[in-house]
Amino acid sequence: MKPATVSPTKIARRGLMLVISSPSGAGKSTIARNLLEADPDLSISVSVTTRSRRPSEIEGRHYFFKTIREFEALKATDSLLEWAEVHGNFYGTPRDAVEKAMGEGRDMLFDIDWQGAQQLQEKMAGDVVSIFILPPSMAELQSRLHRRAEDSEEVIATRLANSRAEIEHWREYDYIVVNDDLDRAFSSVRAIVEAERLRRDRRPGLFEFVNGLLTENPL
Ligand code: 5GP
Repeated sequence: MKPATVSPTKIARRGLMLVISSPSGAGKSTIARNLLEADPDLSISVSVTTRSRRPSEIEGRHYFFKTIREFEALKATDSLLEWAEVHGNFYGTPRDAVEKAMGEGRDMLFDIDWQGAQQLQEKMAGDVVSIFILPPSMAELQSRLHRRAEDSEEVIATRLANSRAEIEHWREYDYIVVNDDLDRAFSSVRAIVEAERLRRDRRPGLFEFVNGLLTENPL
């Protein structure tokens, strides 16, 4: 029996751009972190920001922290794939890392707001899969922001006020996950990733695989 020419696990496919947005405190960062731990084929796009570093954050891992002048220079040299002002600070996605990952057929995760999601959807339509995480209630959102206790009262108040505006963009996303239970929300996000990886239109390598199947002669 002649074996199929391509192993089913090696069927070439284009990289996925997985965009996750939510209002602050809806659990997006925890879901993103768990996803990265569970899925070695996924890497995160590390953004640049002009926001000050929180005590728990590490330069180059959570963000690249920049001055406004440095951020302006990145914009001027077209080094950002998208950028936005969020809660009074600037955030942007470095272009090089994304283009490299996509060129190598690797999947990337983007923890960005609705403005960034819109820009990526416009620029890379076929590659973007977007998920919006909703809190189970506004009261729960507020208490999660307080529990995090890494931001001042003033910052928490701004984030809460902005969360309504963020939620209003829910219709622009492919999938909506309500995070009332972290494990369940995480499983839903994993299922979305698994299903999206199997999409026919994302797997040019299927032609070769199916041709191999059809020319195989088991007799
Ligand atoms: P935080 O200050 O809590 O880390 O992030 C605030 C918001 O900015 C979050 O909604 C986060 O998803 C968003 N954000 C982080 N990086 C980027 C980015 O590169 N681009 C855009 N558009 N939003 C970002």
